[in-house]
Amino acid sequence: MIELPQAFMQRMQQRLGPEAPAFFACYDQPPRRGLRVNPLRLSVADFLRISPVALEPGGILPEGFLLPPDAPPLGNHPYHLAGMFYLQEPSAMAPIGALEVEPGLRVLDLCAAPGGKSGGIAARLAGQGLLVANEVVPGRAKTLRFTLERLGVANGVVTCARPDVLCEALPGYFHRVLVDAPCSGEGMFRKEPAALAQHCEALVKQCAELGADILDSAAAALAPGGELVYSTCTFAPEEDEGQVAAFLQRELRVAL
Ligand code: SAM
Repeated sequence: MIELPQAFMQRMQQRLGPEAPAFFACYDQPPRRGLRVNPLRLSVADFLRISPVALEPGGILPEGFLLPPDAPPLGNHPYHLAGMFYLQEPSAMAPIGALEVEPGLRVLDLCAAPGGKSGGIAARLAGQGLLVANEVVPGRAKTLRFTLERLGVANGVVTCARPDVLCEALPGYFHRVLVDAPCSGEGMFRKEPAALAQHCEALVKQCAELGADILDSAAAALAPGGELVYSTCTFAPEEDEGQVAAFLQRELRVAL
């Protein structure tokens, strides 16, 4: 079993109470991997006919699937290189569905690299409307561009800007905004040893403050009646439900 940070364990124990043992036991299990079929390249039915592995249902989205535990690495598979699918954990697909994207909408993905959620959004736009996929870190913005090219996104623009600068330049422009915030990564402990190694309470605080700034920027870019989805891959309440509650309080104050 991996060694979890003490402060994290105490917090989860406190929050989950009798459910905590089952939660901690999941760290003994290998993570489940998944993939999302890219309907911009081919239909789900067509992909299932040629899939290199036997896929299992459970991928959260209709085009999402679980890989069998013994699946070989698929990153260099020709179908992957051709953009027929994107390797993505089921939980990472959830914000795509929550955004309720329809063809023709203008959508901003504000923290977009490497592009997993942008790809899912583009699939829902089905070539109509606009996707602005933004990533502030230049090297990662390049990866984002390659991802969207590989997936065949024709109505997407990749930008590399600070959220405040981008959102102030396009006030009220987007019907949907996704903030998939940089976070303390508590949900990545099994998958990414770096997330475990760098975790500390100071990081949680720092990420919560950064997330709040990004959310405030994002709100300025949202059209009246539009929808904003905020997601993280962490459990810390300051970055999750506490973040959302504080954001709504600030927005309420602005509205009054
Ligand atoms: N949405 C992406 C996907 O599904 O592939 C994952 C995004 S990841 C959780 C968060 C992203 O925020 C990272 O690419 C990171 O470089 C970026 N980021 C880091 N600092 C940031 C900042 N100050 N403002 C905006 N984005 C930032």
